[in-house]
Amino acid sequence: VNTQKHMRIVMLGLDAAGKTTILYKLKLGELVTTIPTIGFNVEQVTYRNLAFTIWDVGGQHKIRPLWKYYFQNTQALIYVVDCSDVGRMDEARDELHGVLDDPEMTDVKLLVYANKQDLPTAISPTELTHKLNLHALRGRDWYVQSSNARTADGLLEGLEWLEGQLR
Ligand code: GDP
Repeated sequence: VNTQKHMRIVMLGLDAAGKTTILYKLKLGELVTTIPTIGFNVEQVTYRNLAFTIWDVGGQHKIRPLWKYYFQNTQALIYVVDCSDVGRMDEARDELHGVLDDPEMTDVKLLVYANKQDLPTAISPTELTHKLNLHALRGRDWYVQSSNARTADGLLEGLEWLEGQLR
């Protein structure tokens, strides 16, 4: 992965999607949890030129107005989905589109990790693409990468796609 260029990446997803596991597998360093007092746990980690900001979406509408401060100057959104959590696909879709509707996110590249592909009940990346209604996105570069965060399968491939987009 090209580490010459500074990048700000926001990684979001419902709770238990696999975000923390992905961060640790990427060996990005120590997590720093900030602003716990406002009921909004934001994790920030910097690795070389990559600045990651991570939180759980879902049922957080009250604190939503705060999100835009973290969206500023972001080049990429990594959206992590637990593909075995079929009962929450609609929620995952609505939260994703809500984030992408933010004016700060207009030019942001979207990488979706179709995570937990090792689980027998997981839907495929193609099926996830439909469930998330990604074909409805206009003027947006997006990519769905199959992943298993526990084994790190697919994680670097996803980042390589992002690197190609941001060059
Ligand atoms: P977060 O809330 O999005 O940060 O989710 P976590 O990273 O804490 O993961 C939630 C749970 O799912 C943990 O028990 C992880 O070990 C597990 N998990 C994460 N990714 C995968 C995966 O690809 N496959 C399987 N089987 N479990 C996973």
